[in-house]
Amino acid sequence: MTNDPPTPLAAVRERIAAAARLARRDPAGVTLVAIGKTHPAEAMRPLLDAGQRAFGENRVQEAEGKWPALREDHPGVELHLVGQLQSNKAEAAVALFDAIHSVDRRSLVGAIGRAAVRTGRSPRCFVQVNIGDEPQKGGCALADLPALLDDARTAGLDVAGLMAVPPAGVEAAPYFALLARLARDHGLTGLSMGMSDDLEAAVMLGATHVRVGSALFGSRA
Ligand SMILES: *Cc1c(COP(=O)(O)O)cnc(C)c1O
Repeated sequence: MTNDPPTPLAAVRERIAAAARLARRDPAGVTLVAIGKTHPAEAMRPLLDAGQRAFGENRVQEAEGKWPALREDHPGVELHLVGQLQSNKAEAAVALFDAIHSVDRRSLVGAIGRAAVRTGRSPRCFVQVNIGDEPQKGGCALADLPALLDDARTAGLDVAGLMAVPPAGVEAAPYFALLARLARDHGLTGLSMGMSDDLEAAVMLGATHVRVGSALFGSRA
């Protein structure tokens, strides 16, 4: 026996498990999405070797450069797009990603729908909500959510749930609770919320996907 400190991956998994225990939830109901953006392919390998399979990126081009080779060596990798997506990159995104967490406007719903037809792939989609009603932030306005969900379903998207990034510098829990309520109101079970600094609150409030970068890979340049 050694007293080596836990790896960052083990530490994050334990944080998720502890929050799930408190909330009387099965930790298996929470998918840890390891956000590798800005970090090179080599930084992914220790996590892959430890069995981590869900990874996220925020840029299509970066993911295209990084993941095809890693995927060949590690079957079962599941890729999540968590960054804003331009409609002209929708086809590339649909071809590469298994889930898209940033569906936030009608034009993008249309582009993803067409890309799905052309590629024969239908990634799980999370509709991103601008939960703090912030001017510069991605995500659809709360008032537009019902219509956007209708559009997404009509376009044949596989709508898994809702995603949000709460405002910085304030307590995140009320925003997580609001997102959870919106999901419930719309009959959606997927909740993509919680990052390195606030994943416990997110898990306790029902997150099904936490998106964790810096706690796993260190800070970004
Ligand atoms: C970068 C990013 C994350 C991870 O953030 P950390 O604070 O590094 O855990 C989660 N979600 C989105 C949308 C991101 O862009």
